[in-house]
Amino acid sequence: MTSPRVLIPLPIQDSEQRRFSLGKNYVNHLIAAGGLPILLPTTANALDDWRALYVYADGVMLTGGGDVDPSLFGEEAHPATYGIDRQRDEMEIALARWALQDDKPLFAICRGIQVMNVALGGSLIQDLPTQWAGALPHSGSQHGLERHEAAHSISVEPGTRLAHVLGAAHVQVNSFHHQAINRLAEGLRIAARAADGVIEAVEFPNKRYYLGVQWHPEDMAAQRADMMRLFSAFVAACRA
Ligand code: MN
Repeated sequence: MTSPRVLIPLPIQDSEQRRFSLGKNYVNHLIAAGGLPILLPTTANALDDWRALYVYADGVMLTGGGDVDPSLFGEEAHPATYGIDRQRDEMEIALARWALQDDKPLFAICRGIQVMNVALGGSLIQDLPTQWAGALPHSGSQHGLERHEAAHSISVEPGTRLAHVLGAAHVQVNSFHHQAINRLAEGLRIAARAADGVIEAVEFPNKRYYLGVQWHPEDMAAQRADMMRLFSAFVAACRA
């Protein structure tokens, strides 16, 4: 039996826009969990080609990066909004919609949870520090935290898929985001929040695995078995 194939969009996101780049921890932990990554450059621009590779894949992973174009949820850009890549947005939104329609497993991380919510009709808080009163320090790098270090805790909703996978009601997570879900898309369920009310995880109920997290489990999974289980449960769903 071959490993489940997981499609991951591969963006250009270096400062000089010269190289494709994707954190290796996404890929390595997916492989460690038994999955086979298929990296598709976001500059491939034919919807039919994305669709063909999507059909070939057993699951989809959406990763971190710059902000989603706010015009996709009907807003002007906030001054702090950065790194917009419309091509990537369109590819990832299509993948998120297809995966929901087909009940193909989708694991969405950081920017990925934001893409998921916009793809299904929701909106984003464009800049937590200036638009969310009492916001916790969600931008860990500005507070000197390493990628694997916890920045804040989350409260996990009982009875959710996330609660089942993590196995705890309160969990410490890292945090490298300045945006978050604002208006929740219809059908999505909140699976975790930070103490300041920021949505940290969502899922679509009664799907094989349709889960988004606002933190970066790929950077904690080497030290944390609960974070690794997010990858292994995802790959198990892709295999099923
Ligand atoms: Mn956070």
